[in-house]
Amino acid sequence: MPPADTIVIVGSGLAGVSAAGTLRESGFGGRIVLVGEEPELPYDRPPLSKGVLVHDEYAALVASHLPTDIALRAPDNITLRTAAWYEERRIELMLGVRASAIDAAAHRLRLASGLELTYDRLILTPGARARRLPAVETGTVPVAYLRTLRDAIELRRHLQPGRRIVLLGGGVIGMEVAASSVLRECQVTVVELATRIMSRALPAETSDYLAAYHRAKGVQLLLGTAASAQAPAGAGLQLADGTTLAADLLVVGIGVQPDTQLAQASGLKCEDGIVVDACGATSAPDVYAAGDAVRYPDAFFGRMLRSENWMHAQNQAIAVARNVLGATRPYAQVPHMWSDQYDLKVQVSGRYDTAEHVRRGDVARNKFLVLHLEGGRVVGATGINEARDMKYAQRLIEARTVIGAAQLADPAFNLKKAAGA
Ligand code: NAD
Repeated sequence: MPPADTIVIVGSGLAGVSAAGTLRESGFGGRIVLVGEEPELPYDRPPLSKGVLVHDEYAALVASHLPTDIALRAPDNITLRTAAWYEERRIELMLGVRASAIDAAAHRLRLASGLELTYDRLILTPGARARRLPAVETGTVPVAYLRTLRDAIELRRHLQPGRRIVLLGGGVIGMEVAASSVLRECQVTVVELATRIMSRALPAETSDYLAAYHRAKGVQLLLGTAASAQAPAGAGLQLADGTTLAADLLVVGIGVQPDTQLAQASGLKCEDGIVVDACGATSAPDVYAAGDAVRYPDAFFGRMLRSENWMHAQNQAIAVARNVLGATRPYAQVPHMWSDQYDLKVQVSGRYDTAEHVRRGDVARNKFLVLHLEGGRVVGATGINEARDMKYAQRLIEARTVIGAAQLADPAFNLKKAAGA
């Protein structure tokens, strides 16, 4: 592969920033341009459904920012990197502008502003967009989505004590916003289509445990329930069975769609995500992609996958940036996600679709770990407030360690030692 002078990255979320930093750390001395649609200095998304909605430190930001402000500055405690970090690394930021077309043959990227950038390599990290639910958008009850810092600031304004917040979707967004809304003393109802909450991310046992925890906090969970539209005259939300749910705000968190618009319009292969190989190369020459928007051959699951989590966005971008510089090392990562709700840290690693599992710890004390086993190996783990043991479990999963279920079930068994830590 001939050396590159200019590498352009499209998408200024965690994946884009991780790719830019890795290029420099790996010794790339040429020009790096990071193009981002959002105008703010790139920020971290996990606090949007938690800290930004709840913590006092964000109150001033929320109070001072008008929805019409265009010069919103991401507060320092949420930015991924300081402005100085980009300057020191000579990473050029082009923010507040969307990339509109790739001419792969000419190695040119067009921006919506009309500017054209010539690149030697292009890395796409466009992320994903909130799936919309137009059926409930018409009516007088305000409807909120949560994907950006602006969305979070707007949402926080609504979370006043006593307000009736109805969440559509009991996934990660739904349940994190439910917890934040309870902490802000709102009345909370979750309307979830599936028969259990966070079914995409959690095994049934942990999902049921978490549902009970939310109910004990006063959250009403309507599972296996669909909404059809807003009820007339601002009465709230009409459910598919004809009943009406009173609401002051509807928050929709029904999943995301990968942002493949630019890639698709430019002729890159896309199938519910930009299709890449194990090294992150797309179907176009010298164009790579990473993060939420990508469908890739996952070594752990052994199939094509699109992953939506923080750890994946960061680590795939790092791996791909190295490959862009010629490393040719396939990306391989045991999947890992976490979610903070109330005083619970929920963590999931690897696979949990196994017939055999072992629980360690104490459910009544809200501190336990479930290890998922297959063929004598630990292939996954789900933890509640067990961050330390979760780390060891991850090592066991990565090392494909063989351990008997009886041993793991013994509370005296030392997980740290078994993990070689
Ligand atoms: P999700 O896929 O986690 O959950 C969506 C939920 O909506 C599912 O439970 C689904 O059954 C339900 N649903 C779908 N259509 C529905 C409908 N019409 N009515 C009611 N329920 C419906 O997606 P999300 O919660 O919207 O999160 C969006 C993205 O944000 C994801 O990529 C997620 O990984 C990310 N995120 C991650 C974290 C974290 O990792 N802690 C936190 C917040 C957001």
